[in-house]
Amino acid sequence: MSEYRIQGATGDWEVVIGMEVHAQVISHAKLFSGASTEFGAEPNTQVSLVDAAMPGMLPVINEECVRQAVRTGLALNAEIHQWSRFDRKNYFYPDLPAGYQISQYAHPIVGEGWVEIELEGDVTKRVGIERLHLEQDAGKSMHDQHPDYTLVDLNRAGVALMEIVSKPDMRSPEEAGAFLRKLRTLLRYIGACDGNMEQGSMRADVNVSVRRPGEPFGTRCEIKNVNSMRFVMAAVEYEAQRQVDILEAGGVIDQETRLFDAGRMETRSMRSKEEAHDYRYFPDPDLLPLEFDDAFIEAARASLPEMPDDKRRRYVEDLGLPSYNASTLVMEREAAEYFEDLLARLAKATGKLEREVAARASNWILSDLFGHLNKAGRSIADSPVAPDAGAELLMLVIEGRISGRVAKDVFEEMFASGRRAIAIVEEKGLTQVSDEGALAEIVEKVLAANPAQVEQYRGGKTKVIGFFVGQVMKETRGQANPAVVNKLLKERLDG
Ligand code: ADP
Ligand code: MG
Repeated sequence: MSEYRIQGATGDWEVVIGMEVHAQVISHAKLFSGASTEFGAEPNTQVSLVDAAMPGMLPVINEECVRQAVRTGLALNAEIHQWSRFDRKNYFYPDLPAGYQISQYAHPIVGEGWVEIELEGDVTKRVGIERLHLEQDAGKSMHDQHPDYTLVDLNRAGVALMEIVSKPDMRSPEEAGAFLRKLRTLLRYIGACDGNMEQGSMRADVNVSVRRPGEPFGTRCEIKNVNSMRFVMAAVEYEAQRQVDILEAGGVIDQETRLFDAGRMETRSMRSKEEAHDYRYFPDPDLLPLEFDDAFIEAARASLPEMPDDKRRRYVEDLGLPSYNASTLVMEREAAEYFEDLLARLAKATGKLEREVAARASNWILSDLFGHLNKAGRSIADSPVAPDAGAELLMLVIEGRISGRVAKDVFEEMFASGRRAIAIVEEKGLTQVSDEGALAEIVEKVLAANPAQVEQYRGGKTKVIGFFVGQVMKETRGQANPAVVNKLLKERLDG
């Protein structure tokens, strides 16, 4: 893999990226109150007195959120801190009724770890994790509901977020995209966050700086709340070029907070370092430090599924899948589960080892199933063709009852109607023709109609056999058994 460089008039520049990702914890209740976290409710219908910061209300920690943070820490190969503490981060904002956010500052629940990302050309790279801490989300100011006023919705106020901070280990827009994608995959695998960027349950602050290769880090800018994979990559690309242009012109980079304007695909300044807040962090006196024992961690560990990196390795090493197939299948847990279900059924029905049918199963999922799901805009979880129905279709091909060509049409119909393969094949009479007598007749006809190609074949251009096979297929509407056709053609042409 070639290194990503930005070419300036005075030489090459390297981009350095670190990310702070906010991930909303999957939990029925908020971090310190029992109010619901359901998305899409009427404004201010999911607000407890704690969330509204009524005087005298006391926060109570939600154990489920702690458990999810620990599980996420384990998925990030990170150090779990059995003693951590909540601090108040003080600032004024209309959608923050308490005047402070309860967060973790000096003592986060999770420390250093790493994530493995996959890059082009089968290259993998580890991106370091600095920390993960728990904090409350703020409410939402709505500026478009009333001509004269800004309204505030506190439904989100107090919802548990995990802030996951990476080390400045990424070096290209591709790596930044791969990191965020991998993080999303991990969070969704373990069910700690739904990863839905459009609904804001996952959002990234992207830190970007540039430097001459090998020199110390440059001054960074932080791009706030980027809410799609594509925008993260576009923001990095734009911001790195902007900084290079400034430095090339002899300027300096101001450390500032910027926002990404998706309409113009550019970053713009929000506030500079001079305006940066002094949050006056101090330990929240309403909350005890957070402490748990080894058993709590071990229970969290035991609740984790097989993780995508382990699955990918197993698919390549034990099942012999090409790494592209393996990587694509493990991206979503539901796709991996579909594959494993289909594979088990095929192995059982054929009496073969899983590795002997793995390539067929994965190729069918990647091309046929994914192709149709993408076109229909559906997820694999609500595929109209379930693994058992898919296995039946593939068995018809394996047993030679239908050709691979016909299988594609049958699948199309299964996908549209939800009907089973066998019913479609029987109704339409699509069974593969392997009868040598019937096929020999068609072979004769095709050879007689194409004397020039017969001449070519006999002259040594044996590749034209593919042409003849195609013609026989056409005559039989794809139902001829290609192995039998090949054999018959060879006998006739070589004999
Ligand atoms: P702060 O304490 O000011 O919040 P951190 O050290 O916590 O700064 O870093 C915040 C984020 O910025 C991290 O994701 C980190 O990887 C990233 N980062 C730090 N320095 C740089 C740099 N020079 N270039 C790009 N990203 C950086
Ligand atoms: Mg920070």
